[in-house]
This record gives sequence, structure tokens and C-alpha cells, in this order.
Amino acid sequence: MNKPKVVILGAGYGGLTTTVKLQKKLGVNDAHITLVNKHDYHYESTWLHETAAGTLHHDRGRYAIKDVINSGKVDFVQDTVTAIKPDENKVILENGELDYDYLVVALGFEAATFGIPGLIENAFTIGSVNQSRLIRQHIEYNFAKYNNESEKNESRLNIVVGGGGFTGIEFLGELADRVPQLCKEYDIDRNLVRIINVEAMPSILPGFDPQLVEYAMNSLESRGVEFKLGAMLKECKPDGIVIEKDGEQEEIATNTTVWAAGVRANHLVEESSLEHNRGKVEVKPDLRAPSHENVFVVGDCALIWNKETDRPYPPTAQIAMQEADVCAHNLATLVKGGGDLESFEFNNQGTVASLGHGDAIGVIFGNKKLFGWSASVMKKVIDNRALLKVGGIGLVLKKGKFNIF
Ligand code: FAD
Ligand code: NAD
Repeated sequence: MNKPKVVILGAGYGGLTTTVKLQKKLGVNDAHITLVNKHDYHYESTWLHETAAGTLHHDRGRYAIKDVINSGKVDFVQDTVTAIKPDENKVILENGELDYDYLVVALGFEAATFGIPGLIENAFTIGSVNQSRLIRQHIEYNFAKYNNESEKNESRLNIVVGGGGFTGIEFLGELADRVPQLCKEYDIDRNLVRIINVEAMPSILPGFDPQLVEYAMNSLESRGVEFKLGAMLKECKPDGIVIEKDGEQEEIATNTTVWAAGVRANHLVEESSLEHNRGKVEVKPDLRAPSHENVFVVGDCALIWNKETDRPYPPTAQIAMQEADVCAHNLATLVKGGGDLESFEFNNQGTVASLGHGDAIGVIFGNKKLFGWSASVMKKVIDNRALLKVGGIGLVLKKGKFNIF
């Protein structure tokens, strides 16, 4: 008997969680499951800012995919997807192609650059292990270079972070911890180093609890972060940026611009024939694409409307993993010949953002505010929980965060 072919694209939070859940629900004879991912490892996207700042080694935030999948039930293909062809039930890879009966698109996010001149060429982004270790190396190189030049180049020591959303703020927290270590290592006066955040809105973390925003600003400022609020980053050059505030333009010299001002879905979604809304698939409640019944979309490639706020849910790992549960259930139901499909309901467990080692802010259980050490412990619990969900206690013991002091 021909087994239905299930192909899952991407082994991030959405794709890998779908895979490990599905392999538990299906027997070897139920389906032929294939997972495709660019690398042979999964990385915790939510830890990438730590790798980028150099406060966490990249190996701590990644693990081998083969360690969490059941190779008796799932074929892992390490390859890069180059096109999705839903009208032909086919996916094109760099090194071949796959056909499917059911597809899960979980290819994640990429930086949104909004056509700002010079960003693609000159800015760094925090989007993968490779991008993050490049940032770490680049910052360290500039510190090392500084005292090797007779003519001192201050732009080597100016680090600009574009965007004061959660990614920008978490990265600033790590940088604020890392810079004093780098100064010590390379004999540089801390006062010569500038860490500058450029945020277009009048406040960082727009829309988040004002008291916690103030706490975050104070925490970061006390560790030497400068904020340029209400300032749009307009251009990025190899040796500086142009910002505009109150109609006035200012240039800031820097060799290091890290663009953390927004994300979009993987471009392959927009390039496919899947019906999309600004590059994301506005999925049905059962997480299938409205234009293609046999295609599920989860994580940052999917768009789900929050009826309470009349806005889409923000793209987060939390929602990607919850979607994966429903996606695995619905796929298993269809593969086994039908039945009722579940509808996705977001269970908001709160938001906690780190501000470096030992400091964080967050809102949990609906309205409970946390800050400081307790929020930081909670952030580590959340990080460990993601490991637990995919790889069980063994993975938590291997990769988990336990350094709470
Ligand atoms: P991803 O986790 O990005 O996975 C996509 C996978 O697809 C990756 O393995 C990638 O390598 C692979 N892939 C991409 N393109 C291809 C291709 N062409 N071929 C093959 N494979 C490919 N959210 C939270 O809820 N809490 C947080 O604390 C939090 N912190 C964050 C911190 C940072 C620094 C960042 C950048 C994001 C953070 N987020 C957080 C958001 C969260 O990381 C994303 O929403 C989440 O990763 C989305 O999951 P996903 O499965 O859609 O994509
Ligand atoms: P974001 O869209 O949440 O924030 C981007 C910020 O950049 C905004 O404040 C915006 O005003 C600003 N911006 C945009 N264009 C600008 C410009 N030209 N100049 C200056 N500022 C500009 O994006 P993000 O921070 O990358 O977050 C992406 C997603 O990941 C969000 O859903 C977020 O909730 C999630 N995330 C969550 C956590 C957490 O829960 N701890 C951490 C990181 C990211």
C-alpha cells in the first residue's frame, strides 16, 4: 500500500515540534515523513542575540536534529528549499526535488529591511547561527583592531542597534554585559565605546507595559546604552548610518550596524502560488492554507488574526510551538483517513524579555509583572521549556540554562 507522503519544511520551533509530535502519533506504516532543513542542527532562534553578543557559545543554543527525531519514522534531508510548488504538490531543493501528499511550511523569518538604502549590503542581522557568530566576530575584530592602528578610528567602537523591539532590546542587554569584558580583554577605556539604539517610535518596546519599559530603559542606560528615540534609521553605509529625528538628519559613524527592526516571513512563501497577505499565509483555523487544502503553514510564515486586538498575533516561538501541536494532530487525523480537525486557539502564556545576565522584564499569567532577577529566572525556565517540549529532560540537562546567579 502506498503510504501518504508528508513533507515538513524547516526544523525551527514550528517544523521540528510538528515532526516530533507527529512521529509519536503515527506508526511506521501510516505515513512516509520527510523533514527538510538547511542545516543538520536545530538552533534556538530565541537565543541568537546571546551568540551575536558573544555571551553564549553558539553550540549551547543548537543541537543535532538526528538526536530528537526517530529515524525509523522520519527521513531527514539536509538541503535548502529553493521553491514551493503547491499546484504540483512538489518542493524544489538545491539538490533535488520532493513530491508530497501533505506539506508543512515552517521556514521561519528573515529580516524586513523596508527598502532602506544600504541595509542589505552593510548591516548585520540576527537570523541564524551563522549570522550571529559573524556579528560576534566582527565586533571582536574591531576591538582588536582599534589598538593596532596609529590613527584611532572611533567608529570601530560605536555599535548601532536599529530597532528597539524585543530583539533589539534583548541584544542591547547582552551587549551591555559583553562590552566591559571586551574592553578589559583589548585594553580599551569603556568610556570610548558607544552602544546606540535607534528606535523610530517615541519609546522602546512600543505597546508594552510602560512601567516595565521604563525599567528596561533604566537598566540599559545604567550600563551605558544610549537611546535615540523617535529617530528613523534612513540609510546604512559601511562606515556609518543616517538617522532622522524631528525632520533633522544626523550621521553616526560606526563600523557595526545590527538591524533588529522587524521580521517578515521567508521569501519563498511570497514567491510560491500560496495565497498570501504581505508574504504570510493567512491560515484557516485548522492551520491549512486557504488556497491549498493539503498545505499547512506554521510559525512565522503563518498569519493568524487576534480578534481581541483586531491585529495579527506577533510572530513568536511561543505561538509557533502551539501551532505545531495542532498541525501534528490535524495531519495525523488526515493521514489516518479523516475525522474532525482541531481549530487553533492561542493560549497566551505571557512575554518575558531578557536584559542581559540576571535581569529581565515580563508579564505572565495575563497581568503579573516581573522584573529583575525573578524575571530573569522565568526567562530561563521558558527557554528550558522549549527544549523539554522537543527533546525531553535529556535535552534540558544537556543544553538547558541553569546559571541563575
Ligand atoms: P524558525 O525557528 O526561524 O525556523 C525556521 C527553520 O527553517 C530554521 O531551522 C531554518 O534554518 C530553516 N530554513 C529557513 N530557510 C530554509 C530553506 N530555504 N531551506 C531549508 N531550511 C530553511 N519568540 C518568543 O516567543 N520568545 C522569545 O523569547 C523570542 N526571542 C527571540 C529572540 C531573537 C533574537 C529572535 C530573532 C526572535 C525571537 N523570538 C522569540 C521569535 C522566534 O524566534 C520566532 O518567532 C520563531 O523562531 C519562529 O519559529 P519558526 O519555526 O517559524 O521559524
Ligand atoms: P518588532 O517588529 O517587534 O520591533 C521592531 C522595532 O523596530 C519597532 O519598535 C519599530 O518601531 C522599529 N523600527 C522599524 N523601522 C525602523 C527604522 N527605520 N528606524 C528605527 N526603528 C525602526 O521586531 P523584533 O524586535 O525583531 O521582534 C520580532 C518578533 O519576535 C516579534 O513578534 C517579537 O515579539 C518576537 N520576539 C519576542 C521576544 C520575547 O518574547 N522575549 C524576543 C525577541 C523577539
